[in-house]
Amino acid sequence: ATPMSIMVGVGKGATAGVLIKDAASLERFEKVDTLVVDKTGTLTEGRPRVTAVVPAPGIDEATLLSLAASLERSSEHPLAAAIVAAAKERGLPVHEVADFRSMTGKGVLGGVGSQLVSLGNAAMMRDQGIALGDLEGRADEFRRDGATALYAAIDGHPGGIIAVADPIKVSTPQALESLRADGVRIVMLTGDNRTTAEAVARRLGIDEIEAEVLPDQKHQVVRKLKSEGRVVAMAGDGVNDAPALAEADVGVAMGTGTEVAIQSAGVTLVKGDLAGIARARILSRETMGNIR
Ligand code: ADP
Ligand code: MG
Repeated sequence: ATPMSIMVGVGKGATAGVLIKDAASLERFEKVDTLVVDKTGTLTEGRPRVTAVVPAPGIDEATLLSLAASLERSSEHPLAAAIVAAAKERGLPVHEVADFRSMTGKGVLGGVGSQLVSLGNAAMMRDQGIALGDLEGRADEFRRDGATALYAAIDGHPGGIIAVADPIKVSTPQALESLRADGVRIVMLTGDNRTTAEAVARRLGIDEIEAEVLPDQKHQVVRKLKSEGRVVAMAGDGVNDAPALAEADVGVAMGTGTEVAIQSAGVTLVKGDLAGIARARILSRETMGNIR
């Protein structure tokens, strides 16, 4: 491509809300045959809300949510924001936390008053040696609905479940459809639970899923697909997506996402609308003189 055609392509992209940082991304986009896409904040809005609070026997809903919010106040995870907001809406107290710890891709823990409280996924509970019992089946019901179910533990015993749901962006189904029609294979990549991931994927017609992937493993999924000869675009919004965005042939960050993700990607979709990916492919073809 000539410098002039690249300038034209970058300009057209900018007008359409597709910011192209480097010429290489624009040149490569037409060759992309696989889109690896993060779930939370990329396929979904990334503004989760608490949809259910299920305390274990002997604990009440308000206490469970109040303890959870106390911990999550110190976390920057989107799930944390949902839990803090839910406690605030219900006028519940939020307490000081001693020895707060955040386990990446798993959850949070700390001391609230005299109690040791933890909140997170099954791996988090396993690490804490918590026997979940009946709670597991209950959590799976929420997950089959596409929600993220978090377990709480209080002083070594199950404390209950908090279900959090994150709606699919209205623009997502159409955007994936046009990419598929253009021959792009879609792979969902998420740190979230497999059952939740499958429920969301089913609604979007996605049949390739990499779930329960720890943040530091996300880029390896991209690397593996590349080693199989695929040309991979990765779309994501989070700090934990940054290495995968950098590893991909073309990294696509959501403009609504974190600064780290935007810096690691060659392309940014200003409004986080995935339709920009199909548009970028067309621009790439035009730029490379391969208009069909
Ligand atoms: P994603 O790839 O969906 O952005 P993450 O890797 O950030 O997911 O997190 C994976 C899982 O770890 C979450 O679905 C959740 O179960 C758990 N988790 C991570 N951070 C927290 C937190 N602050 N509070 C509770 N659970 C958390
Ligand atoms: Mg995300």
